[in-house]
Amino acid sequence: MNPDFAITVTPIVVAELLVEGEVMPVCVHVIDHPDGRVLVDTGMTELHPAVVAAFNPRLFPLNEQDFDVAGIDIVVNTHLHADHCGGNHLFAGRPIYVQRRELDDARREDDYTIREWVDAPDLQYVPVDGELELLPGIRLVPAPGHTPGSQLVVVETGGRPVVICGDTAVWFGELDEPRVEAQRRIRALDPEQVWLAHVHEPWRPRAAHAEDHRPAEARDGRDRSTD
Ligand SMILES: [Zn+2]
Repeated sequence: MNPDFAITVTPIVVAELLVEGEVMPVCVHVIDHPDGRVLVDTGMTELHPAVVAAFNPRLFPLNEQDFDVAGIDIVVNTHLHADHCGGNHLFAGRPIYVQRRELDDARREDDYTIREWVDAPDLQYVPVDGELELLPGIRLVPAPGHTPGSQLVVVETGGRPVVICGDTAVWFGELDEPRVEAQRRIRALDPEQVWLAHVHEPWRPRAAHAEDHRPAEARDGRDRSTD
């Protein structure tokens, strides 16, 4: 245990997407740290034709919830797909940490994201090359896979780490039985919990479960993917 401070992670649902006939949440995560409040991903705040066509979303934007936008000190984007960066514009003037590769791809590649959401006015990106200690006990760790520039946020909470994984895993089966290097990288961290962007509850190693608390979409065994 770290006796000096505790770091907590809280999910906030900011949208629901319709994917193959099923509703999937879009979650962002707040990390409360003694040195500041960190927001991981920003969801969406408005509809865009491209997003409507793909996901027919219902939005619960951060700026329309009981959420202290001004209280966020640092923003991290796990990656820059539209449903992860659409609220970045709310955080103009605050540092937004993203892997440099991700930022370059989002700005350069067509059909990658909604570029005007990425480059909303007055955003101050901090491009990161590789691993970075963001605050004591909070690390950014590259995890190329879902996108080449994806990153994880690894939070030391005293015991085993808590990981916020963006879309590196989209459903629990991808962590129960990792198939790609980035998912294996998460398991190698021996996490106590992993927060996914599109599942309400955190994934935990199966051995930690007395019974199966996973939501239905994780139990049904089907493969899924989304932005
Ligand atoms: Zn994505």
